[in-house]
Order: sequence, then structure tokens, then C-alpha cells
Amino acid sequence: MAGDKSGDGKNNKDKKLLIALAIAALVFTLCLNYFVSKKSMAEVSEVKYSEFINMLDEGKIDEVKFENSTIYFTLKEDGESEFAAKPQYFTGYINNPALLEKLEEAGVTYDAPVSNTNPILMMIVELVVPMLIFYVLFMFVMRMYMNKMGGLGKNNAKLYLEKDTGVTFADVAGEEEAKESLREIVDFLHRPEKYTAIGAKLPRGALLVGPPGTGKTLLAKAVAGEAKVPFYSLSGSSFVEMFVGMGASRVRDLFKDAVSHAPCIIFIDEIDAVGKSRESGLGGNDEREQTLNQLLSEMDGFDVTKGIVVIGATNRPEVLDEALLRPGRFDRRVVVDRPDLKGREDILKVHLKDVKTEDDIDVKQFALGTSGCAGADIANMVNEAALRAVREGREKVAQSDLMEAIELVIAGKEKKDRIMTEKEKRIVAYHEVGHALAIAMQKNTQPVQKITIVPRTMGSLGYTIQMPEEEHYLMTKDEIYEQIVTLLAGRSAEEIIFGTVTTGAANDIERATEMARAMVTRFGMSEEFDMMALEKEGSAYLNGRMSLICSDDTGSKADAEVLEIIKECHKRASDILKQNIDVLHKAADFLIEQETITGEKFMEILNAVKAEQTADENSEAITE
Ligand code: ADP
Ligand code: MG
Ligand code: ZN
Repeated sequence: MAGDKSGDGKNNKDKKLLIALAIAALVFTLCLNYFVSKKSMAEVSEVKYSEFINMLDEGKIDEVKFENSTIYFTLKEDGESEFAAKPQYFTGYINNPALLEKLEEAGVTYDAPVSNTNPILMMIVELVVPMLIFYVLFMFVMRMYMNKMGGLGKNNAKLYLEKDTGVTFADVAGEEEAKESLREIVDFLHRPEKYTAIGAKLPRGALLVGPPGTGKTLLAKAVAGEAKVPFYSLSGSSFVEMFVGMGASRVRDLFKDAVSHAPCIIFIDEIDAVGKSRESGLGGNDEREQTLNQLLSEMDGFDVTKGIVVIGATNRPEVLDEALLRPGRFDRRVVVDRPDLKGREDILKVHLKDVKTEDDIDVKQFALGTSGCAGADIANMVNEAALRAVREGREKVAQSDLMEAIELVIAGKEKKDRIMTEKEKRIVAYHEVGHALAIAMQKNTQPVQKITIVPRTMGSLGYTIQMPEEEHYLMTKDEIYEQIVTLLAGRSAEEIIFGTVTTGAANDIERATEMARAMVTRFGMSEEFDMMALEKEGSAYLNGRMSLICSDDTGSKADAEVLEIIKECHKRASDILKQNIDVLHKAADFLIEQETITGEKFMEILNAVKAEQTADENSEAITE
């Protein structure tokens, strides 16, 4: 960010200023000392003490002045009038009580200035004043440093303030779902009255969650840009400073400043740096906890009707403190996922606008080759392509540059990230369609909202979003069977199509087994054990761990029955898939190509295949 750079520059300037001030202070103190002792050394000459005594004995001395542990004196030969102004000689003072007697005897007038002999005053002038000066200087410099480090005082909150981000939703390609959820916030910032009039409480905070480089920061800026409100951004890590209490005061100032600029958006990037769960980890981090507590109380404190929205971004939502996620704080969670094929095409188009291109650009081909890449990767690739074009002395980016750039970037990324191979993509596609098909055939409804096979950093390789069903609390035996069949259909599809099995189904298998086991041991749905409970739920606090309450012998018989159920369901799943193998192929092909398939599209394919089949059957019947 530009703000950071100017911060660095300021840092250097501050250092120079600091040095200059220190020198000035030193010079000042020296001068002060010089003037305090007042006597200009050049105008008087030093003599040895013994010489002074000699002179005294010889009666040469006219007047003596004690001052600052120094004896100033003047001789008789010199003009008397002159002496009053300046003595000509001086010598060190030696504590010798006999000296006074001698002076008396010699009839010398002697004297000591009143003010300078006051030791307390001397101390104040010589010690306390310079110390005070240093103290004031030190405080001044400290304040400057603290200010620069970003939090104390309003000026610094403004460092992070962008009046107009200049980014809109049009700059964020793909991510339609995320944009949809954020649009409401934009509307709210536009017209808070509309919502408050009806008594609606709007979210105070939204949390953008997703892998790095998917455009979280960009989205937050786009929200501010769309709503045309100021954008305060701060990185979570910059809250956590070396001084305990700094982060907290920074948060306080930020919110104070934001309130005066409402409506506005406060964006806290990498919020996990502050918001890490307070329970986890060894030992506390006082500073982080204080900062987090301050953030929590500020989020509770501000007046929602003013139109302030706090947006956080993180790629590790699982480490966040519970308190941050509860309603009234970051209660909205907006998933910003890696883009699918269409999304990648769109992102490429957005970034191609910034470079000059040949006419031969094939966005589709590029998108196909970048499965699993995030928006930042694509931005990077476009830049690499442009660099390559320059290297080869061309003026426009060609398709070949883009394809080269993909390899360059992916090769660098492959070790860190999961980029699926073509084969894996096929397996995952069939697996997911297997689940969907099983639901469709058993329930005769649209099975899913959406299936995608874009690799996720969090969780499985692909996923299926099921339609929200009517809420019900009781499940019949048949429904449980259906669910187990559905869970096993994923793996069954892999078996049927590829003849091999992969490790991708572990979670499905676990859940299916759990259900089958519950049927036998808890729900009284078994053939053999009738309504006998074989297991009971352990302590409710220990997360429903089951404990066997029957003999081991009965336990192993129950295991056998669980296995029976699983086998039965596995067979049913395979049968369903085999009977509808055309649908399986067609839907999987579509999914491999597009990476995303909606429930509607799935039903379209299914119905088309069915219609074809019945047509075939009918025509067969006619020919017979
Ligand atoms: P994150 O905050 O999620 O790590 P950023 O928002 O910082 O990611 O994205 C980094 C860069 O990647 C952006 O500046 C932009 O150039 C590019 N980018 C990421 N996602 C998109 C997208 N959906 N559309 C356009 N550009 C994107
Ligand atoms: Mg970011
Ligand atoms: Zn599965």
C-alpha cells in the first residue's frame, strides 16, 4: 500500500530529526553551563594556589571573590576601579579555614556572590534543568514514533483511510455468490435509514473467508467503492505491537475516527493475527488479547444506525476466537472461493484489459489450463505473459505468452498448492455426480443446489451443496437407508467407471458407517436385536461419544449386522448408478468441462436422457 511507503520515508526523516534534536540539546546544555559559570576564561589567567598564597603573604592582593569553588582575585598594582567588573586571576579553591584569617590579617576585602553559593539553586541550574530538557525531548520523540507507528491520534487513522477506493464490483470477476451477499451491505451503507425505519438491525461485521489470493481484499475495497464511502483498512498484524496496550489504543482511535466519518467501512485484513482464539496456544499474549478485547468492545459499542460496517478477512477462520464470530460481531460469513472455469475466464478478461493483446487470445483455453488457481495467480500470469512479450521484443501479449506463463506460475505453485490433474478431476467429478444421482433417483427431486470440483484448500476436493430439505426431526428407516446409499454412491461411481478406488471417500464411509451403526445399536431398527439398546450416548459434554452397554459378544454380532447394512446399501448404490449410467456420464462430462453444475442443469441432463430412453423404448415397442 502507498501508505506504508510514505511511512518508511517518514521514519528516516524522524531519525534525522531525532539526531538533530539531540545535538541541539547537547549544545544548549553546554552553553547553559558556560553562562552559568559566567566568567569568560579568556579574560582571566590561572595561577597556582601556592602562588596565590605567596602573593597574599607578600600583600599584593587587593580583593578576593569566592565563586563556584574558585577564588578570583585582583592585585593591588591594577587599577581598582577595574576590578569590580572583572578579576584578573583565579585559582582553585582549597578548603583552608586559615585562609580567611590570613585575608583578615592582610586587610583584603573578600566576598562571595549570594546566589551562586546557594547549593540547591546550583543543583537545579546545573542538573535538573538539563534533565528536564532531555525529558521533554525524549517524550516528544517518543510521541512522534508512536504516532508514526500508526495509531495515536487521528492523523494516523487517516493514513489508512482511502476516501475513494476506485474499485467496484466490476473489477472483481467471478465470485458471484460473495458479491451477492455483500450487495446488501452496500445498500445498507447507501441508505441506512431504509433499514432502520423498519427496525431491522444490520450486520455489524462480515467475515470474508477464503484461500489466499482469491480477492478478499479486493472485494472489501469494492464494497467501499460501490457504496462510495471511505475505506479504513488495517492489517491485523499491525495491531499487535511490541508495547502492550498500543494495539488496543490503536483500535480505539480507529473506531473513533471511523465514527466521525460514518458511513464508512473498516476493513481488518488477516484478522486471525488479532482474533486468534484466546484459549489456544501456550501462554497468553497479553498484547493480542488486549487488542482483541478492545476490538470486541468497540464492535459492540458503535452505533449501527450510523452506517459503519466492519469487514474482516482471513484464510484461517478455524483459529478465530468464538467471541468474534457470535451474532452482533462478524456474524456474516462470506466464502470467497477459488474461481471455477467461468470465473477464471472472467478474471482473465479483467486483467487482460490492462495489457495490450493480440487478437488471437483464447480465454477458454487459458481458463481450462488453470484449474485450481486463484485470482492473484491469474493476475500474476498475465503479468508474466506481458514480461515475456517484452523480453521477446514484441509489443502485444499473445496466446503463447499466456500459456507459457501458466506453466511458469503453476510450476512454482504446484508444491505449495493443490492443482488437480486431469485424471483426478475426472474421478472427483464422477464421485460427486454419483452422490447427486443417487439422491435424484431415490427421492425423485432435484438433488443438489450445486456441485463443484474446484479444489478447495479447506476440506474436500469437490463438494455438493444439498438442497435444504423440509426440516424434520424424525427419520424413517427407509430414509436412513437412502442416506447411506447416497453416501456410498460416490465411491460406487468411482468403482464402476474407473475400476479402482481412491482415498477420497473416507469421510463418506465414516458417516455411512456411523448411521448404519446407530440403526442397529440405538434406533432399534435391527433384525436381530429388536428394540434393544446396545450403545448409549456418553457424557453430553464429551461430544456424544458412544459407549457399548452390551456384552462383547453381542457387540461383535452388531458389527456384523452393520456390515450387512453397508453391503446392502453399497449394492443399491451400484445398481442405481448402473441403471442410469448415461446420466452419470453426461453429467460428469458437463462437470469436468465446466467445473460447476447447478441442480437445475443436472435435472435437465437427467430428464433429457430419460426422455430419450422412453422414446427408444416406445419405438422398440412399435417395431415389435
Ligand atoms: P486476498 O486478499 O484474498 O489474498 P487480494 O484481494 O489481495 O487477495 O487479491 C490479490 C490480487 O489478485 C488482486 O489485486 C487482483 O489483482 C487479483 N484478483 C484476485 N481475485 C480476483 C478477482 N476475483 N477478480 C479480479 N482480480 C482478482
Ligand atoms: Mg488480502
Ligand atoms: Zn463423497
